[in-house]
Amino acid sequence: MSIDLAAVAREKGIKYFLISYTDLFGSQRAKLVPARAIAEMQKNGAGFAGFATWLDMSPADPDLFAVPDPASLIQVPWKKELGWLAADLWMAGKPVEASPRNALKAQIAKAAALGYQLKSGVECEFFLITPDGNSLSDPADTQTKPCYDEQALMRRYDVITEICDAMIDLGWNPYQNDHEDANGQFEMNWHYDDALLTADRMAFFKFMVKSVAEKHGMRATFMPKPFINLTGNGCHIHLSLWKDGHNAFEAGDDISPVAKNFIGGLLHSAPALAAITNPTVNSYKRINAPRTNSGATWSPNSVTWTGNNRTHMIRVPEPNRLELRLADGAVNPYLLPAVALAAGMDGVVNGRDPGPRMDFNMYTEGEKVGNVPKLPLNLLDAIRALEASPVLAEALPELIPAYTKLKYAEWNDYTRHLTEWERANTLDC
Ligand SMILES: [Mg+2]
Repeated sequence: MSIDLAAVAREKGIKYFLISYTDLFGSQRAKLVPARAIAEMQKNGAGFAGFATWLDMSPADPDLFAVPDPASLIQVPWKKELGWLAADLWMAGKPVEASPRNALKAQIAKAAALGYQLKSGVECEFFLITPDGNSLSDPADTQTKPCYDEQALMRRYDVITEICDAMIDLGWNPYQNDHEDANGQFEMNWHYDDALLTADRMAFFKFMVKSVAEKHGMRATFMPKPFINLTGNGCHIHLSLWKDGHNAFEAGDDISPVAKNFIGGLLHSAPALAAITNPTVNSYKRINAPRTNSGATWSPNSVTWTGNNRTHMIRVPEPNRLELRLADGAVNPYLLPAVALAAGMDGVVNGRDPGPRMDFNMYTEGEKVGNVPKLPLNLLDAIRALEASPVLAEALPELIPAYTKLKYAEWNDYTRHLTEWERANTLDC
């Protein structure tokens, strides 16, 4: 029996619904629908002009319909009369395959056909800044090593606890909050779960953090590198495959052969993954970055894996999961697990060998790494790597061409800008 949203609205006092979807660039799009109209919208979806958002569509295309998934309903904690719904995109009677939530569902279905379920947990770092975006919201947050700064954390107690209380009420099982490694930067952790559920929660989390920050007269940003000398916003994802209710990555004191093959798949496709996990021009100022004020970037530059060591791209903190440390705060909540699952399952299916585990400090002993692939140095290299990846093209045959087309256009738009650096270095040529 499916959930009747009109009945839920009456029962919970919901007056309006946000029927929302995440476009290819990770922007949240929504229509605000009064409860009186939700029954019809639940059946047929809310209509949008797809071209007006970051999707590969044209103004001549027919209506795009966002059909809400009733199981994703969240009663908005800071506005209880509002219900938030994640939606799946349809056009001309068919699901839009080149859209993030449908793409993730397709990868989940393929893994399920092999008996696997992906569980994931994400660490979405963010800064609290002034509304104009120019500076940190807390001028007293100036320590050189600000990570876990108790005073700075407590000066943002009202914001952080309002978000954490909301996660408790929503049943997400949050368990810790901290001041992160950059001045003005925070991280809030909730329990891992099924990958689609985590993706919906991540989409909502970003909306919630921005909304609560605005309520408190601040602005929250997930931008990968908003301040050049400070550590950037990562979005590490913890991954585990489950089979028949058991963690298929666990094998006593070590990770299982399945986990090693999954890692092999991630390493094999890493340069292509970067176009999704590090999707903006700005992303490449976080990975490959020089040392920050705090002493470390906490981001990778090479395609390597290791044990419980934060200087490599993939960390195995415990023999029950792996942490992909590549993605940043601009990553699409749905495309991140979608491409990680596609690349990882390619490794499982094809028995990809991850090669040796690198047990050294990559930041200080990087010369030991030998001849391993480097991550792309900029967005253009990453898009080219994605376009050249047979693994991702096969897994996401409609999404990858749509995504690369829009990203090439974004890169070309970027290159049309004349920067201050160019003038400073070229005027006297
Ligand atoms: Mg962190």
